[in-house]
Formats: sequence, C-alpha cells, structure tokens
Amino acid sequence: MRGTFTFDMSLIASKFESIAPSQTLAITAAAKQMRDEGQDITSFGAGEPDFDTPQYIKDACIEALQEGKTKYTPATGIPELKEAIKEKLYLENGLEYDNNQISINCGAKHSCFNAILACCDPEDEVVIPAPYWTSYPEMVRLAGAEPYFVQTKKENNWKLTADELEESMSGRTRMLILNSPNNPTGSVYTEKELKAIVEVCASEDIIILSDEIYEKLIYNGRKHFSTAAISDAAKEITITINGFSKVYSMTGWRLGYTAAPLEIAEAIAKIQSHTTSNPTTFAQYGALAALQGDQSIVTDMVEEYDMRRQYMLSRLGTINNIDVVEPEGAFYFLVDTSKMGLSSMNLTEKLLSRYKVAAVPGIAFGYDQSVRFSYATSLDVIKTGLDRFEEFCRAH
Ligand code: PMP
Ligand code: GLU
Repeated sequence: MRGTFTFDMSLIASKFESIAPSQTLAITAAAKQMRDEGQDITSFGAGEPDFDTPQYIKDACIEALQEGKTKYTPATGIPELKEAIKEKLYLENGLEYDNNQISINCGAKHSCFNAILACCDPEDEVVIPAPYWTSYPEMVRLAGAEPYFVQTKKENNWKLTADELEESMSGRTRMLILNSPNNPTGSVYTEKELKAIVEVCASEDIIILSDEIYEKLIYNGRKHFSTAAISDAAKEITITINGFSKVYSMTGWRLGYTAAPLEIAEAIAKIQSHTTSNPTTFAQYGALAALQGDQSIVTDMVEEYDMRRQYMLSRLGTINNIDVVEPEGAFYFLVDTSKMGLSSMNLTEKLLSRYKVAAVPGIAFGYDQSVRFSYATSLDVIKTGLDRFEEFCRAH
C-alpha cells in the first residue's frame, strides 16, 4: 500500500515552492557520505572550523551539567551571559546596550531569522547584496517578505555602495542585510563605507541587520567596524548579530545573539518564548567561559586561517581560467569561474564526481559564475584539493 501512496503536495504551505534547502549544508553532507563510502574526498564545503572547541569552554559546560544546570532559563538566555555579551559589545565594539536589548539564540542563523521575523511583514522588501550568504533570501521568504537582490561588483570588492543601495529602495523596502566580514566573498566594509550606507538607511527608515559573525576572522591588519557603532542614528536602526560558532569553533553548540533597539529586542523575545524557549542551558555556560577566558586561542586560530588564506591566494593566483579577489575576512574564497562557461552546479558536480573535490556552487550565493572554497580545513587538505582543482581548470 505504502509504495503506491502519493503525497498531496497541497498539504505543504505554498511558500515552500520557492524555498531551497541549504546548499552549504547539502554539499558537506554529500562529501561526508562519499567519504564514508570509502572515496578519497577533499572538502572545501561548509564554513565550519576544523579546530575542536577549546577545552576550557567544554570544561565549563561539563561543570554546569554536573551542577544540575539542566532546566529552562529565561527565554532569551541567562543573565550572566547577557552581562558578558554586554561587556564584550561595549569594550570591543563601542556599543552600549542594556541586558533587555540582548537576546541569546540557538545559533546566529536563528538570530538572523528571529530578527527578520520581528521586523518584516508580508510584502515588505529586504535588500540583500549579492553574493550573499545562502540562508538570507530563504529566511526572508519564510517570513513572507521578498528579497530584493543588488548585484555588487567585483571591482568594488563585492561591496554594496551607498549609490547602489539608494537605487534599490522602493516604497516597500523594510530592511537591508549587511554581512561584514562577508560570507562568501571575504570582503570587509570600511568605516567610511558603512557611514555612507547608514546615512541612506537612516534617511529612509530602513532597519539594518548587521551580521558580524566573522568579526574576528580578519586579516591584513584590517579593522572590523560594527554598523551600530557608526552613529547614534545607526544604533537606532541596527540589529547586531554575532555568535560563538566561528570564532570559538562552537558550531554544534548552537549559540548566537542579537543586540537591538528595545522594541525589536522585545519582539524577538516574544518569538523565542513561543518557539524555541531558551538556547540549551548548559551550552550557555560554555559560551560564558568562552567570552571570559583567555582569548589567545582566537588569535592562534586566526593566525592559522591567515596562513591558509595566503597559501590559497598564491596558488589560486597562478591557475588559468579563474579570477579571485583577495578576501580580507571570514574563511572563504569566492572563485570567479565565468571564463569556463559552466553553470556552477555543473562545475561543482564534475569537480566532486571526477576530481573528488567538494565546493559550494556560486548559485547558492546568488552568483552563478563562481564557486566557494572554505579554508576552514587543514593545509594538507587544501594542498591536495588545490592540486586537483588545478587539474580540473586545465581540463576546462
Ligand atoms: N551568518 C553567516 C554569514 C554565516 O556564514 C553563518 C554560518 N554559520 C551564520 C550566520 C550562522 O551561524 P551559526 O552557526 O551560529 O548559526
Ligand atoms: N555558514 C556556514 C557556510 O556558509 C555553515 C553552513 C550554514 O550554516 O550555511 O558554509
């Protein structure tokens, strides 16, 4: 009986017709499965640090478990962690928030979704500079709103300009999503560039979702600027998003946070109180230790990423048929493959099946003439993977 049953797709909400699963996660799962089947795969897939979570963070979580920190906490997180985030934002980002403006969420992905849900009504437009992190448009669609893409230019290091932003405004524009350092391009906005963008948004009453998850993964002596710290006007319209996944290598812990104007923070708190409740209790104690502990582990990880970045830059620069812009933050290279004339899906499928290299197709980031390589993986993997990629490029 079961074999002949056809599911009635009208039972699924119609918005899912336009929603794709995450390609970054899909390619990583495909690579893992092929590896489990015994194939020799090198993966430049998901942006997931290859380091283990530092021991002092694990210890704090284990201690919390042993002490019975296993019950619900306030929906938006434990006060101690909010206090530590508040202090971090003040000391490192020049931002002053009260605890009730901060909410701790189940990963920065969840923080982004909460923020979009809190601010966007159906029919609202959300400006997303492309190339973009793959989940933003789908989150906007899930909220019933519409993404409005602005294709940024390679010659501007893939950064949105204030003029481009101004041109993208319509009467329906509600939000701009900014991500610096950027996934997938590695671009970092300067203070001046942010100022110009804030001016446009402030004059049009546009909320800025500033995703700063890669804040500390920054190279070439570049400095990270928090959008909300640009001016008082910026702070009134900006939701700052950050988290623990990348910088402390805590992807599986699922902890991120938002800091926002009080009214937005209250809306986020309502959403969270009815959906996930608090993020996992004992994990929050690990995050507290992460913020309070010795930060030299972060510097060490950043040094290692930078070494890999420079190696990749030197290798990719010598490969024919491709172009790269030097990334100055995060841990990705967006390789421009337009000279090959292949769709990014076709390219990444061939690369995986014939050359055993997993990378994410640019179409997942709104730029089909590209492929993304994550260097959150060991130098050995990078070397082998680039040898194979070079061979692939020679053949195409
Ligand atoms: N923002 C960006 C730009 C990302 O690349 C990611 C991917 N991890 C996230 C947010 C979500 O991070 P988390 O693992 O904390 O949910
Ligand atoms: N953000 C990472 C990436 O872009 C992890 C996967 C995901 O959450 O999308 O690869």
